[in-house]
Amino acid sequence: MGAARIVVVGTGYVGLTTGACLASLGHRVTCVDVDAAKVARLSAGRVDILEPGLSELVAHGLTGGTLSFVVRAREVVADADAVFLCVPTPMGAGGAADLRAVEDVVLAIADVLPSGCSVVTKSTVPVGTARRIRALLDRPDVPVVSNPEFLREGTAVSDFLGPDRIVVGSDTPGAAERVAELYAELDAPAVVTDAASAELVKYAANCFLAMKLSYVNSIAELCERFGADIESVTEGMGHDRRIGRSFLKPGPGWGGSCLPKDTSALLRMAESAGFGFGLLDAAIAENLAQRDRVIAKIARAVGGNLADARIGLLGLAFKAGTNDLRDSPALAVASVLCAHGAEVTAYDPAVAGEQPGMLVADSPYRVAKGADVVVVLTEWPEFRRLDWPYMAELMHGDTVVDTRNLLDPRTVLDAGLCWQGIGRPRAT
Ligand code: NAD
Repeated sequence: MGAARIVVVGTGYVGLTTGACLASLGHRVTCVDVDAAKVARLSAGRVDILEPGLSELVAHGLTGGTLSFVVRAREVVADADAVFLCVPTPMGAGGAADLRAVEDVVLAIADVLPSGCSVVTKSTVPVGTARRIRALLDRPDVPVVSNPEFLREGTAVSDFLGPDRIVVGSDTPGAAERVAELYAELDAPAVVTDAASAELVKYAANCFLAMKLSYVNSIAELCERFGADIESVTEGMGHDRRIGRSFLKPGPGWGGSCLPKDTSALLRMAESAGFGFGLLDAAIAENLAQRDRVIAKIARAVGGNLADARIGLLGLAFKAGTNDLRDSPALAVASVLCAHGAEVTAYDPAVAGEQPGMLVADSPYRVAKGADVVVVLTEWPEFRRLDWPYMAELMHGDTVVDTRNLLDPRTVLDAGLCWQGIGRPRAT
C-alpha cells in the first residue's frame, strides 16, 4: 500500500504519536478527539505532552497538509483505508479493562465506514475485543485488526519510528498484512498473527516487565538483608543475554498509566478463563509491599514518626522524561506520607500546579529548606547535578533516601549528608 488515508481516534500519548508519525511516513492522517479544546490547540500546533520531536512532527504535518484534527469521527471516516482506535482503556470496576471508549467509537462509525476499511485497535484491549468489535460493527465487509502499541512515554516518537517489532493480528485473511504494509518504511520485524494472539502479546509483554521489576525489587530487599549491593547483583545478572540489562533497576514500585491497569486486566482475563495466574498476582502484591518498604525507610530516616515530619520530595512523575502523573508511584508515596500527617513539599522539573495535601515547589532547593529528610522518587538526571552542599545547608535533617539509586553516594556524603538507596549499603 502506498499513501493511505488514515483516521486516528484519540490524541493522547499513543494517538497523537501514531497520527503524527504515520503522517511523517507519507500517509494522509486525520486525528479525532472528543476534547474540542484539545483539537483546537492541536490544530494550532500546540502539543501539551512532553515528547521529544512530537511538536515538530505535528507542525510539519499541519503545514504540509498531511495531518489535521477534528472532533467527530463520523464526519471523516467515509474515505478512510484504516481507522486506528487509540482511546483510553482504563481499569474498570473489578479490575478489568473498561472498553466503553472503544465501544462508543465503534458504534458511532459503524454505519458510515466504507467497505474494506480496517478498524485497528492500538489501545491495549483484552483478548476477545476484536471479536466483540466485529459483533458491534455487524459489518462483514469491515476487517478488524489488532495492532498493539509498545511506545514508551518520554521516547514515544523514536519508539514509534524505530520499534523493536510491529505486531498485527486479524481473523480476516489478508487484513493484518495490509495494516503491516502501512509501516513498510520502518525497519522492524513484523509479527503477523490472529487477533487473539496479537491482543495477548501486549499484556504478556507489559506484565513480564512488571514481574521483572517486582523480582528485582525483591532481590534488592534481599541485598539489604544480606549486606549485598543490588548494583553489582544486577550488573552480574544483566550481562547474561538471556536476562538482558533493561528493567533491572529497583525503585519505589512500578506505576504509570499502563503497568498497573494492564497487570490487573490480565489477572482478570486469566480468572475469567478459569486460570489462577499466581505469578502475576504475586508481582502485584510485591509492588505494594515495595511501596510500604519505601515508606518505612522514610519513617526510619525521620526517627520513626511521620506525623509533622518535614519531608522534601524530588520527583513526582512516574518516570523521568515525562510529565505524566497517572498512577505515579511518587504520588502514591506522597499521599501515604501526607495521610500520616507529614508536611510534604515536592519538586519535579516537568510538573507545575497543585497536588492534594502537599506544596509543589518551583525549585529543588525549596524542597530541601527545613526538610528532615529529602527523598528522590523520580530518576531525573538533573537531581545528580544539584548543589548538594547547599542542599545540606538548607536541610534540617541529614538523610537523603534515594529510591532510584540515582545519586552518587559519595557526592551526598561529601556534602555532609547520609545516603540511603534501595538494596545498597548505606553511605554514612
Ligand atoms: P491518553 O489518555 O493520553 O489519551 C487518550 C485520548 O483519547 C484523550 O485525548 C481523550 O480525550 C481521547 N478520547 C477519549 N475518549 C474518546 C472518544 N470516545 N473519542 C475520541 N477521543 C476520545 O491515553 P494514552 O496514554 O494515549 O493511551 C491510549 C491507549 O493506548 C490505552 O489503551 C493505553 O493502554 C494504550 N497504550 C498507552 C501507552 C502509553 O505509554 N501511554 C503505550 C502503549 C499503549
